[in-house]
Amino acid sequence: PVFDYAPAPENRDIARVKQYYQPFIGGGFVDGGGEPLKTLNPATGEVLAEVSTVSSPDVDSAVGAARKAFERVWSPMSGSERAKYIFRIARLIQERARELAVLESLDNGKPIRESRDADIPTAAAHFFYHAGWADKLDYAGLGPNPRPLGVAGQVIPWNFPLLMLAWKIAPALATGNTVVLKPAETTPLTALVFAEICQQAELPPGVVNIVPGAGDVGEMLVTHPGIDKVAFTGSTEVGKLIQRQLAGTRTRLTLELGGKAANIVFDDAPIDQAIEGIVNGIFFNQGHVCCAGSRLLVQESVADEVVAKLRARVETLRLGDPLDKNTDIGAINSAEQLAKIRELVASGEDEGAQRWTSPCPVPEKGFFFAPTVFSGVESSMRIAREEIFGPVLSVQTFRTPDEAVTKANTTPYGLSAGVWTEKGSRILWLTSKLRAGVVWANTFNRFDPSAPFGGYKESGFGREGGRSGLAAYLKGDDDGEV
Ligand code: NAD
Repeated sequence: PVFDYAPAPENRDIARVKQYYQPFIGGGFVDGGGEPLKTLNPATGEVLAEVSTVSSPDVDSAVGAARKAFERVWSPMSGSERAKYIFRIARLIQERARELAVLESLDNGKPIRESRDADIPTAAAHFFYHAGWADKLDYAGLGPNPRPLGVAGQVIPWNFPLLMLAWKIAPALATGNTVVLKPAETTPLTALVFAEICQQAELPPGVVNIVPGAGDVGEMLVTHPGIDKVAFTGSTEVGKLIQRQLAGTRTRLTLELGGKAANIVFDDAPIDQAIEGIVNGIFFNQGHVCCAGSRLLVQESVADEVVAKLRARVETLRLGDPLDKNTDIGAINSAEQLAKIRELVASGEDEGAQRWTSPCPVPEKGFFFAPTVFSGVESSMRIAREEIFGPVLSVQTFRTPDEAVTKANTTPYGLSAGVWTEKGSRILWLTSKLRAGVVWANTFNRFDPSAPFGGYKESGFGREGGRSGLAAYLKGDDDGEV
């Protein structure tokens, strides 16, 4: 079939796509001194918009604006006043939800059904939830006089652009901190629309600043001496680099990094329900999910049945135009990411795993990868250890619960895990044995702003969401100041 995924003019209109976007510093949109970048529509490979990026003096002025806003306006303000602004932001995200969802799908490549039903409403939910905390911090059990840290430097990835922004900005604002945030270079647009929302909400200038750019801008931001707290979500490689750079400084740091989650299916599991959970676990958002269930561990006695049913289900997934409401799997975010997926898939074949790829039609234009399942995978193979960050599942088998735990815990990561079994006692036992920040039982990829999220081991440290997420933005015992 012939596909033509150029964004129809009406979609550009719904998303209000502009030709040119600017950084947001001190409450206004200004040209930055960096090299402008072009953001692509990954479903076509065509340029979606041009974005002015920042240089070092712009980062200085963003941090300066955030400091001024912190000292003069935002931290002296009462929690209930801050809450009003955060509520307003949440309402404006809801009002502009359609525009944001289409823009997110155009810039990121994710299916509109996901941006419409998951990314944008969950982003709004984060602001609602944290608005509720702003005047109740005294009751959060986080010390007698919880105080903000100051200016937060926040760096986010491209897989959930607006949602990751919400995870970062909502708790920072609720706790009285101000923010300089750098969106990912391939998905800066919804962050810059969020800046418009801050203006609409009449948020005091400087409380939120958005500085588009590539990794060099991220580095300028996280190492800036005016930053009190760094919150980073991205690859383990960059997370480790930041940790080294901040060693010996007083900058507080939280890291949300990669994952290689096991989805563990026991022989007593409700198999059809588990199949849906496995599919959602790895193919949601093209597998560009840090907590994706990228390893299926299935008990040997049901392995053949599960794999057969899984393939039949995966064959029904529709790959294609992210803006089509029937699309299940959209575009891979960039040519670079597509190359990384292909390289790891080739390594799986070279190392002797058996590859199966859905026979679905794949568009010729743009960056697409058909859903793929590897069986006969050994724990030593790269596809069992490394994060592929794409629609590729590695299947391994186990005989006993102990073996399942050993195999699940065998990677350097520890972000999430899923377990599928009828036995409540087994679920409880597994949650104590699995080294994962989140363990889902008989479900997968469930998120709520009140539930803390974060990793163990090389998946990072610190939690986002819930009461624990607030602590990351407040002075505490470890600052010696409470
Ligand atoms: P990445 O680390 O390359 O980039 C993430 C962000 O860091 C981008 O904004 C990038 O510009 C910036 N950056 C790059 N080099 C930097 C440097 N030296 N200093 C400061 N900032 C720098 O990761 P990515 O490929 O964009 O994102 C995918 C990764 O993010 C995956 O590994 C995924 O698991 C992880 N992730 C984790 C979570 C989580 O909550 N744990 C959530 C989403 C994504």
